[in-house]
Amino acid sequence: MPTRTTTEQLTRAAITLLAALLLSAPAGAQTSLFDAHLHYNAEQREAIAPGKILDILESNGIEHAVITSTPPKNAHELAQLAPGRIVPFLGVYRTRADKERWMHQPELPERVTGWLEDGNYRGIGELHIFGRDRNSPVLERLVRIAAERELVLMIHGDLAIIDRIFAIEPQSQVLWAHLGADPDPTILRAALARHPHNLFIDTSVRDERFLDQNGQLRPEWRALFLDHPNRFVVGVDTYSLPRWRRFGEVAATIRRWLNQLPPSVARRIGRENARELLLDPLALDHLPPALPPERR
Ligand SMILES: [Zn+2]
Repeated sequence: MPTRTTTEQLTRAAITLLAALLLSAPAGAQTSLFDAHLHYNAEQREAIAPGKILDILESNGIEHAVITSTPPKNAHELAQLAPGRIVPFLGVYRTRADKERWMHQPELPERVTGWLEDGNYRGIGELHIFGRDRNSPVLERLVRIAAERELVLMIHGDLAIIDRIFAIEPQSQVLWAHLGADPDPTILRAALARHPHNLFIDTSVRDERFLDQNGQLRPEWRALFLDHPNRFVVGVDTYSLPRWRRFGEVAATIRRWLNQLPPSVARRIGRENARELLLDPLALDHLPPALPPERR
C-alpha cells in the first residue's frame, strides 16, 4: 500500500537523519563526570556563591559531585539547591587544626551523630589519619557510626588505616582519596586484593604520578585501571580557592587521560563507579568483569 511505503520511507529517513545528527556531535563534546572529591569550605563559600558553584559544575559537565565542607552546612546548602546533583558528605572538622587532632577528641563521635541527625549526608569525611593513629577509639566509633547508617567514609590515609577500618567493620564502604598515601600500583593492587568489595579509590591530585610528561597514562597505571575498572573514581579536589578557579583546566586533564582508556572503562571510572557507590549501592552486586586482554 502506497501509504505504508511512504510511512516506512519517512521512518527510515528519520532514522538516517537521527544517526547523522548523532555522528556529527562535536568530537570534543564533554562526557559527563561524577566528581567524587570536592570541598566547599568557609573561605570558598565567602568568595564563590552556591549558585556560581553549580554553574561551574554545569559548565564542566559534572553530572554529580561529592561535596564536603567546614562548616558542614555549606555542603548541605548546596545539596538543597541541587538535590539531584550534589552528594553531601559530613566534614567533621571545625577548624583547620582539627585535621591533625580529630582522632584524639573523645567528644567528636557525639558531635558527629548530632550533625548526622540534622542533615541528610551520604558519607563522612574527608578524614586525615595514618597508621600511627590506627588504634584511636574515635576512629573506631566513627567507623561504627558510618556502618550503622550505611555511610561511605572518605579517607585520606595509608593502607594501615584502610586495613584497620575493614577490621573494625568488614561491611564498611571506603572512598580512599588520592590513590592512597603512597600512590603505587603494587600497593593499590595489594589493597584491592585484600578488600575486593567495598574499597573505592579516587585519583584526585595524583595525575603527575600516573601520567608521563606527554600526558599519557604510564603503562603500569593503565594496566591497574584496566584490571580494576570498577574500583576507581575521579575528582578535581577543590582543596583551595584557586582550585575552584582552575576547575575547568583540571577537569579537562581528567577527561584527557580517561579518553586514553577503552570507552567502557572510561565511563566506569569517570562516573558509573561513583554513581553506583553513592547513588545506587544495589548495583554493586552486579558489576561487569574487567575487560579481557584482547579488548584492551
Ligand atoms: Zn580533599
